[in-house]
Amino acid sequence: MADQGWQREIEAKVYEGARLSRADGEALYACDDLAWLGRLAHHRRTELNGDRVMFNVNRHLNLTNVCSASCAYCSFQRKPGEKAAYTMRVEEAVAKAKEMEGEQLTELHIVNGLHPTLPWKYYPRVLKELRAALPGVSLKCFTATEIHWFEKISGLSASDILDELIDAGLDSLTGGGAEIFDWEVRQHIVDHATHWEDWSRIHRLAHSKGLRTPATMLYGHIEEPRHRVDHVLRLRDLQDETGGFAVFIPLRYQHDFVDSADGVIRNRLQAQTTMASPADSLRTFAVSRLMWDNVPHVKCFWVMHGLSLAQLSLNFGADDLDGSVVEYKITHDADSYGTPNTMHREDLLNLIWDAGFTPVERNTRYEIVHEYDPPVPLAQRRSEPQQVWA
Ligand code: SF4
Repeated sequence: MADQGWQREIEAKVYEGARLSRADGEALYACDDLAWLGRLAHHRRTELNGDRVMFNVNRHLNLTNVCSASCAYCSFQRKPGEKAAYTMRVEEAVAKAKEMEGEQLTELHIVNGLHPTLPWKYYPRVLKELRAALPGVSLKCFTATEIHWFEKISGLSASDILDELIDAGLDSLTGGGAEIFDWEVRQHIVDHATHWEDWSRIHRLAHSKGLRTPATMLYGHIEEPRHRVDHVLRLRDLQDETGGFAVFIPLRYQHDFVDSADGVIRNRLQAQTTMASPADSLRTFAVSRLMWDNVPHVKCFWVMHGLSLAQLSLNFGADDLDGSVVEYKITHDADSYGTPNTMHREDLLNLIWDAGFTPVERNTRYEIVHEYDPPVPLAQRRSEPQQVWA
């Protein structure tokens, strides 16, 4: 049972806007009163974002799945020459992006393997061509891990790399490569050379050049709640310094399944762990919202959580849903849960209204593109059966 005296103290802090401590964060994860936790996180979410749920209409593109690293959780990477390894020529990438352009696409999200032989110049060339072919589409590309890799293969500094990519059309980095920053865990899950020092250096640099970036956290594997708290506190401190993070995205670790792709299980973590339960995911959203008090938005990437949980997350601190996704591969090469990997604008609008919130379409910089009507009041739709979202 949660200690009521302690709960009142935490409530007072949250309602006064006081900052929660590391010990508070760890205690929040240990608290068994999930409804209370959700209520507090919802208070903070509503203070910041009202009853809005933001989304954008985006597509994911992976230029290559060939990767020099073999991160323990990754089912996406292939080695050179391996079956299903691929790398797109610049023209192919542009043609693929053009195919995705319908439905008033506003953003392309591009992340890739750390290809051992592709020259650095390939990447700004792709961006330049994409910018020319899709002038109205924002390019949110590359993790900090990829930028660090570009430093290695080009001999250039991250500052010069970012300048060249921004010149070519880069609008934002992606938030990946963060996983869990604490080395105690990180050394067992990550196989590339980008850790907190370089990840934070590159995001700090991006912020100094006017980019706003997302940050992620991969949870629900071998880490403990204290590692999640630590992860968020590092980001909170960096946000105090730069103010450049737009959104936090907790990503649920996923198992790999044998009936997927080529039938090979690449994920080396799944023998050691289960996946986070829905309650654990809601707790993670709520604690993250409360602890990372200076990040404007918390996003639920529904591909990894399922649609019903995505709806519930909107009452546990999340105010942003990832948009339509035709292809998403990094951790979604296979999903035996039946979660679709494609949603369209109409689906998302209905999902948000159905959860009782007002949809707002945004662009990559979180500027409002379109505000939709508020949801139909529950009393007026009681007679209709509520849709069950897979
Ligand atoms: S997570 Fe990224 S860096 Fe790690 S193996 Fe997969 S593609 Fe490579």
